Amino acid sequence: MTSDSATGIDAPQSGDLMERIVGLCKRRGFIFPSAEIYGGFRSTYDYGPLGVNMLRNVKNTWWRSMVQLRDDVVGLDAAILSPPAVWEASGHLANFTDPLVDCRHCHSRWRADKIEGVCPNCGSADFTEARPFNLMFKTHAGPIEDEGAVAYLRPETAQGMFVNFANVLQTTRKKPPFGIAQVGKSFRNEITPQNFVFRTREFEQMEMEYFVPPEEGMEWYRHWVDQRYRWYRELGIPEDKLRVRPHDADELSHYSTATSDVEFLFPWGWDELEGVAYRTDFDLKAHMTASGERLEYFDQATGERYVPHVVEPAAGATRTMMAFLLAGYEEDEVGGEARMVLRLHWRLAPYQVAVLPLSKKETLEPLAREVLALLQPHFMCDYDTTQSIGRRYRRQDEVGTPWCVTVDFDSLEDRAVTIRDRDSTEQVRVPVERVVGELRDRMPV
Ligand code: ATP
Repeated sequence: MTSDSATGIDAPQSGDLMERIVGLCKRRGFIFPSAEIYGGFRSTYDYGPLGVNMLRNVKNTWWRSMVQLRDDVVGLDAAILSPPAVWEASGHLANFTDPLVDCRHCHSRWRADKIEGVCPNCGSADFTEARPFNLMFKTHAGPIEDEGAVAYLRPETAQGMFVNFANVLQTTRKKPPFGIAQVGKSFRNEITPQNFVFRTREFEQMEMEYFVPPEEGMEWYRHWVDQRYRWYRELGIPEDKLRVRPHDADELSHYSTATSDVEFLFPWGWDELEGVAYRTDFDLKAHMTASGERLEYFDQATGERYVPHVVEPAAGATRTMMAFLLAGYEEDEVGGEARMVLRLHWRLAPYQVAVLPLSKKETLEPLAREVLALLQPHFMCDYDTTQSIGRRYRRQDEVGTPWCVTVDFDSLEDRAVTIRDRDSTEQVRVPVERVVGELRDRMPV
């Protein structure tokens, strides 16, 4: 783990935080290295019982804000496998490359723009000339492995939206400004996957293409930069760990008039969570030329026909989940005892509620299961009967469960249970009949 003096985070501490998060993810079932029993497969990860819940929550929360709560955005789930024509037209076959260099001393390979001239493996500064390395995974569709059968795993979800632009326009009768959103897997043959799930070869993206009348492009670009920054803030990323960084002119793609990255302060420094790009009419025009199809909007009211401009907020789901884990991690003291706590927003936590019978005694089980059955239709719940109640609270704190509901011996008499809050550790007693409502109040829609 390298340190970045500009961030003010020193190496041991930053290394510690990453190690703790990686350790927690493995130990508690958030993220496992793939194919571990065969020695692992560097650069891919498997999401365990808690991780799959959290990753789904990240994606659902994005979908809720981008699709469900808007009447100008619709969803799409396009194929991952696609023919070369798509990537020829989009420019990915020619340009989706990173500069690859070989270290002449230890023969390791690196992405030239990420190593600042020194080999991270051996310290040598003697490299081959950088050459473009295409990041797309190539495969063959069907039983014959010839050129005519070549297919690619998508390196981004965005092209699915451009290729289906006319389909969506016709079927939904939307009118610019409107957007098409998609969440799904993407694949990039990254030269140096690194920093846990920050950069992997298989990952998930959350992307939206927002089609607008050309003269409204900059206005919508500003709208989306603002919206996307707020989304992370509302889900608990603190202000001092989140920033918007507009690209310098020399960083912009040739077709982009403006791009800003939403960046998070990772243990190694500021790095990208999401890019918001004003892509003009580049993509639709490219597909129009290559396919011969008209990818335009015809406004019947004015008789005007135009190719919409596009603003694209493109985020990574897996990378963002990691940022939420890093931002939420804290160590504090409760009753003189050290504890680890993940202060995750309730929308993101793997479990919103844990039902904990005070003791394993069978007398408590029927009521505890009755409470669990009441809560399960509303919330993702854990049910844990092992160890002491104090230990179980700690275990729930460590994985970010915001509320525990404890059933004790008094509950059998008064049909009341205790709700315990992760952050304040406060406990309140509520009747079983009101427990769903009490928890709902803590998780307003
Ligand atoms: P980078 O410069 O880090 O390689 P990028 O600028 O090429 O990334 P985009 O093409 O803008 O990334 O992709 C949008 C988002 O998808 C990124 O902000 C990131 O959150 C996510 N993403 C891209 N590549 C990866 C990867 N290899 N692993 C995990 N997430 C990724």
